[in-house]
Amino acid sequence: MEGVTTTADLVPYDEVLDRYDPVLGLETHVELGTATKLFCGCPTAFGAEPNSQVCPVCLGLPGSLPVTNEKAIEFTVRIGLALNCGIAEWCRFARKNYFYPDMPKNYQVSQYDEPLCVDGYLDVPVPGGETYRVQIERVHLEEDTGKTLHVGGATGRIHGATHSLVDYNRAGIPLVEIVTRPLTGTGKRAAEVARLYVTELRDLLRGLGVSDVRMEQGSLRCDVNVSLMPAGTTELGTRTETKNVNSLRSVERAVRFEVERQGALLDAGQRIVQETRHFHEDSGTTSPGRSKEEAQDYRYFPEPDLVPLAPEPRWVEQIRTTLPEPPSARRARFAEANGFTPLDLEQMANAGVLDLVEQTIAARAAPSKARGWWLSYLVGSANERGVEPADLPITPEQLARISALEDDGTLTNKLARQVVDAVLAGEGDPDTVIEAHGWKVTGEADLVAAVEAAIAAQPDVVDKVRAGNLGALGPLVGAVMKATGGSADATRTRELLQERLVG
Ligand code: ADP
Ligand code: MG
Ligand code: ZN
Repeated sequence: MEGVTTTADLVPYDEVLDRYDPVLGLETHVELGTATKLFCGCPTAFGAEPNSQVCPVCLGLPGSLPVTNEKAIEFTVRIGLALNCGIAEWCRFARKNYFYPDMPKNYQVSQYDEPLCVDGYLDVPVPGGETYRVQIERVHLEEDTGKTLHVGGATGRIHGATHSLVDYNRAGIPLVEIVTRPLTGTGKRAAEVARLYVTELRDLLRGLGVSDVRMEQGSLRCDVNVSLMPAGTTELGTRTETKNVNSLRSVERAVRFEVERQGALLDAGQRIVQETRHFHEDSGTTSPGRSKEEAQDYRYFPEPDLVPLAPEPRWVEQIRTTLPEPPSARRARFAEANGFTPLDLEQMANAGVLDLVEQTIAARAAPSKARGWWLSYLVGSANERGVEPADLPITPEQLARISALEDDGTLTNKLARQVVDAVLAGEGDPDTVIEAHGWKVTGEADLVAAVEAAIAAQPDVVDKVRAGNLGALGPLVGAVMKATGGSADATRTRELLQERLVG
């Protein structure tokens, strides 16, 4: 079948990058968190009844006229300034003409050769204390399209579907597109740098308060361009553009896959086709979409229904004074306040749990415990399920509660893990779970009774311990654990045994 890539057609990532230099280009779409749409007063809330948030303007009905939402301009300027861009003093919207059923006007109001913000950069920390500076080519504002739902096929794609439904609630929501210049020099770190760039950008945008940046709901979406060029050369190769990659993990996987696929083609003396591709979450592969149009195919022209934008420099400077501290400064303060080392910070950032640890501490967990839970337990649970840690069905508040119960001795570490697993399995709040399973640490009186029983039952072990061999305590501790269904505090059990046997 055409376009299907099997693992036999791939060359391992590291091997490809021994011989080729990767080039990346990231186009990130951010749905702005304005209360209303870009050119009309329709609400923007996610998840509403289909086609309940529409009006003549966003449906493109004859005679309707758009009016630009000032808040959307302000948010775009905020993003541009935070990304160190210059802000245009005068620019226009442009019509991008094409037909697609989810776009009721048959053109999209976008920006073409006059973007609102240009020439910025974002510094992305990478493991090892280095920073990679990603150059930003442009930040522009456009309207989002509606959503098409293909019904009847196996995959939810148009292929094999019997009919399609269109929901225009999303049509006209302000969408900012942030486009990087080609990123070179990342070498084998390409896939990781791509993920870390989107992570850093997401944190920055969240801090700016311009979007809820939820990849799983599509308010942050990423197109990933990848090409290869023979190592040591400088002429860019042909790129593919993998569309709508919907998680941080997928950004990394999409880059890896394209490197392995393109490497195999180039090795075989074949050419890369410039095209859009789709990423498949389940297999981690990409497949061809459409061959790429050129800008001229869209017949861009200045939008005649809207006045040009001319953000006053004074207004722009005033917005600049309201920018929050950048994520790097915020992270440094967070580390300082909670006693984390730069390495701790890097590990948490790399695992995508920095915000979660911060929220867990805010819910009153001890910093080291919050860090430990996320890094050494929940990251593993997330990997097993193939989801981001943030998408695990446990809240920082629930985790902080479990951590507190462990701290005050109500739960052993083992029980605490069981409670976490039960919460993840959807059994309810920590207290509900503990109540339902009777998972409480054995009280002192019961523990003493279990210790005495274990001593009485194993006289030969007792003799060894009394003879000074503390290493022989194991079977006694084991017997206590067995008798208490694993709910005894192991440290206290050892203490009690030693008190009785060695004095
Ligand atoms: P398009 O409209 O085709 O998506 P854009 O200019 O919006 O084009 O975005 C293209 C993205 O790909 C940019 O981030 C750009 O830096 C990047 N890019 C351009 N050429 C290459 C290349 N040869 N390899 C990888 N990325 C590239
Ligand atoms: Mg694009
Ligand atoms: Zn509307």
